[in-house]
Amino acid sequence: MQNHLSPTSGAERQIPPERRLRVAEVRKTTPITPHMRRVTLASTALMNFPVRRPAQWVKLFVPTTENEKPSGRAYTIRHFRESPCEMDIDFVLHGDGPCSTWAQSAKPGDVVQIAGPRSGFRIDPRVTHLLIGGDETALPAIGAILEALPAGLAVEAFVEIPEDADAQIIHSKADVEVAWLPRNGRDAGTATDLSAAMMMADLPDENSEVWFAAEASVVRTVRRHFQLDRTMPRNRLTMSGYWKKGETDFRDSDGDQ
Ligand SMILES: Cc1cc2nc3c(=O)[nH]c(=O)nc-3n(C[C@H](O)[C@H](O)[C@H](O)COP(=O)(O)OP(=O)(O)OC[C@H]3O[C@@H](n4cnc5c(N)ncnc54)[C@H](O)[C@@H]3O)c2cc1C
Repeated sequence: MQNHLSPTSGAERQIPPERRLRVAEVRKTTPITPHMRRVTLASTALMNFPVRRPAQWVKLFVPTTENEKPSGRAYTIRHFRESPCEMDIDFVLHGDGPCSTWAQSAKPGDVVQIAGPRSGFRIDPRVTHLLIGGDETALPAIGAILEALPAGLAVEAFVEIPEDADAQIIHSKADVEVAWLPRNGRDAGTATDLSAAMMMADLPDENSEVWFAAEASVVRTVRRHFQLDRTMPRNRLTMSGYWKKGETDFRDSDGDQ
């Protein structure tokens, strides 16, 4: 006989695997740059976690106080290592919000919950040129994508970062040119260099693809440019607002991931 908590009960069977909550523990933390901290999460619950593409992401639930309702935030899987069942997540330390605050002081043994993985970047063999861009929240995804690209692909990348010291070394087999765009004291989500660089970039032919993620209003501007001014086909564009200035737990209803 099954009770309602039985793993084979109807209620359990209806939860799709990517929505199931898995408990994971902080194994270690590593400072990456002044505004980014890597948290390595480990758990046997991550065994057979279906990470198949670069830039897949998870919903991460950090501990809350007793009366607070847990609310997940999206974070990119920067690396996944199958045999020790580990994943690295690179957190932007933006100084506000439960996840950024948690990451700032996370230590080995701390526990989080994870649901996913979702979405990710599909490498289309017909694409010969990739224009990719984003702010520091998109840098883990951009890093994972660049590392996975094959040789022979031409890539132009624009990455907005808080300051020069937040630039990272990223290896790729593709022919990549990265331009780092430091804000140097300007508030996140207010600089226009990134959107201007994206909108001025050359797309050599119909085998070009664009991937972009940043603050929501910046993404809106860039999305409109490629959709309306350049009339790029929808299937060549991936655009997502990763966060929105002044809004907690933002979800981009027009976003592609
Ligand atoms: C698919 C996807 C993948 C993502 N991957 C990553 C990732 O790998 N690493 C990462 O750091 N972020 C990533 N993000 C962005 C992250 O989910 C948001 O920044 C989220 O708001 C952080 O949650 P929080 O609890 O820190 O802040 P919230 O509680 O959501 O927000 C609190 C306040 O902080 C502001 N805020 C939120 N993010 C920022 C920011 N970056 N800079 C300045 N102010 C901010 C909000 O406007 C709000 O006023 C990703 C988002 C998506 C959709």
